Amino acid sequence: MKLLLHACCGPCSLEPTRILRAAGHDLALYYTNSNIAPASEYAHRLGTLRTWAGNEGLPVLEGPYAPGAWEASAGRVGESALEAAGGDVLRCATEAPLREARCRACYRLRFEEAARSAAERGFDAVGTTLSVSPYQFIDVIREELERAAAHAGVDAHFEDYRPFYDEAARRSRAMGMYRQNFCGCRFSEAEAAAERAQRKRQRVAEREAKAAAHADERAAEEAARATKRAERQAYAEKQAKKRAALKALRGQERSDG
Ligand code: SF4
Repeated sequence: MKLLLHACCGPCSLEPTRILRAAGHDLALYYTNSNIAPASEYAHRLGTLRTWAGNEGLPVLEGPYAPGAWEASAGRVGESALEAAGGDVLRCATEAPLREARCRACYRLRFEEAARSAAERGFDAVGTTLSVSPYQFIDVIREELERAAAHAGVDAHFEDYRPFYDEAARRSRAMGMYRQNFCGCRFSEAEAAAERAQRKRQRVAEREAKAAAHADERAAEEAARATKRAERQAYAEKQAKKRAALKALRGQERSDG
């Protein structure tokens, strides 16, 4: 099958392309990711994808980069969700329903562009590498891919590549490939930073709790040592008094004799 594969980045393309090529598909990668901000990040991911794909003999086509269109659709949905969360970025990061509508709009924009391009360029089907990530909404990806493909008049080639995520991570690290630490949009960058800050706060709190627990143990040990010292001191004083009394008694006996 002649398949145009929407590619979000290099690392996420490794396993889907391996699997699809092994199945005999004729592939081209399509980089259409107006979600990625800033533009330098968009270019960095594209450059990484091109370098790797060039070595693999895989063609990479670039779609239009239209961050304004993304802001007008997914960006607006994201702003509404953030408002609903009272501006709490961490809530948006951790409560899936707050992100889902934004991500759906984001998939829709990219898949519509990929499906339209697949139809124009004579591909049989359109697919995506996004379904390798366990952080995405897999069911929504499938729905939106099928919707976009049907609208453009091509087949949707959906596969759940999540079982290969760890292998993709391992291979991309081994290759020294650029691995971004956020999904792509400005919201996801802020959310990823908030999650990292949250994890850091948790680690600090755990270290402090551990230190406090050890401090209690050390204080208890010190108190036990002080008690022992006091007991030894009291015993020594008692013995000294006994010796002094004995000495006085002997002195008295000698003077009496
Ligand atoms: S988190 Fe990822 S999929 Fe969701 S809106 Fe942002 S860039 Fe798009």
